[in-house]
Amino acid sequence: MRNYLKHYINGEWVESTGSETEEVINPATEEVIGKISLGTKEDLDKAVQAARDAFPSFSQTSKEERIKMLEDIAKEYENRKDEIIETITDELGSPLKISEKVHYMMGYNHFSQAAESLKDFSFMEHHDGHTRVKETIGVSGLITPWNFPTNQTSTKIASAFAAGSPVVLKPSELTPFAAIILTEIFDKVGVPKGAFNLVNGSGSVIGDGISSHPDIDFVSFTGSGATGEKIMKNAAETIKRVALELGGKSPLVILDDANVEEAAKAAVNHIATNSGQVCSAATRTLIPSSMKEEFEKAMVDALSEFPVGDPREGNYVGPLVSKKQWDTVQSYIEKGMDEGATLIAGGTGKPEGLDTGYYVKPTIFTDVKNDMVIAQEEIFGPVMSVLTYDTIEEAIEISNDVVYGLAGYVYGKDPETLRRTASGIRAGRIKVNDTKADFSAPFGGYKQSGIGREWGDYGIDEYLEVKTILGYPGK
Ligand code: NAP
Ligand code: MG
Repeated sequence: MRNYLKHYINGEWVESTGSETEEVINPATEEVIGKISLGTKEDLDKAVQAARDAFPSFSQTSKEERIKMLEDIAKEYENRKDEIIETITDELGSPLKISEKVHYMMGYNHFSQAAESLKDFSFMEHHDGHTRVKETIGVSGLITPWNFPTNQTSTKIASAFAAGSPVVLKPSELTPFAAIILTEIFDKVGVPKGAFNLVNGSGSVIGDGISSHPDIDFVSFTGSGATGEKIMKNAAETIKRVALELGGKSPLVILDDANVEEAAKAAVNHIATNSGQVCSAATRTLIPSSMKEEFEKAMVDALSEFPVGDPREGNYVGPLVSKKQWDTVQSYIEKGMDEGATLIAGGTGKPEGLDTGYYVKPTIFTDVKNDMVIAQEEIFGPVMSVLTYDTIEEAIEISNDVVYGLAGYVYGKDPETLRRTASGIRAGRIKVNDTKADFSAPFGGYKQSGIGREWGDYGIDEYLEVKTILGYPGK
């Protein structure tokens, strides 16, 4: 049992001032694997005060000190590798390989990238008539979801530390244990007292408390649009800056010269990885009408390469995070059938032989029209909508006909068409074919996918204010 009933405030593990606790469930076994305390507003106030007290000195640490701190964190993070992987598999249900190659690595990459980005980061620029100084924004409140327990926490914390901003973190109560390990890492490497504070608790108490707190200057949130809206409204009362990383309904545009097998596998990979619980996943695959039959068959064939089952047994697709998420995904699959889309793989109910655990059948709908609910709303499960198009203009129009704009993907060969499609999609991150990840590249959304950019130097900028000095004496 992992029972973590303390919060981390001002460099120490402290008792919660409340007595409420919450059980954490392993979604593969449905068993309770531990408990956390649900913090109170009093706990939050203490954490915010600790961060405020840390601000004058932490924000004035040198760039070199902060680079060293981030590098030390990355090293200690590596020392905790096995534990991080196991923990994410237990709390999220992510297969061990994905916990390692995706979750563990993303956390590591954000800390090392922040150190790298900081090396070239300029906090002062002299222009002809003025000097620009970038200064720490103040105290930051971080609210993170359950689908990437080390990625979203790490990118926010790494950027905040790079900028010298003390933070208060509230991770998701569904997957709180990875953040406990991160906290132990910060404690071990000697992050200054008060620069990092962890308060566990519910969204309605601690999350709400962060977004409305008068002593928090900036809130960085990742999660659902509905919560993002509440956070923005709350933050408005104290004119707090907010960064929101919300949902997506990203298109994968297959060009007519694409290798069908490779592209179909890439499409299925989007809904299989992390069981489709990925904000930037492609969940609408757009194929040329002429390719319809061949491509759909290739997608169904590709499914066999992504086995569903016990995350500890070498499978590729684990369970969803919770019963609630399972119910939501089931209702979307039902909705797709009601709307008249054609089911060519998957469907409702649990996969055969997987009665325990929140497993879902990877599901592919074809003949989807873009105005169907399954093509418009974020499902956050392994469900793909396949749509057809006749011209690239039409593919771009369908791609953009959603409220979201987080990511877009294009697969094919002709450079001019790849460029045209990449430019035409209104989204914050476009990936052409199987290009590898780049942690220095900005990440964030257009439209209702959010506000702001994380990762690399853009991530650091989020935690900074810009000051103009006219007549700065000397250089
Ligand atoms: P959520 O409710 O938005 O939760 C994200 C985080 O916000 C959690 O830490 C949550 O706390 C907290 N929160 C909840 N209510 C809050 C409030 N009023 N003020 C401040 N913080 C609050 O997301 P969810 O319920 O976990 O998932 C719902 C749907 O959101 C999913 O089905 C998916 O479509 C989408 N989602 C998107 C992303 C993404 O990466 N874009 C990530 C996760 C979910 P608790 O610990 O109490 O939940
Ligand atoms: Mg929630």
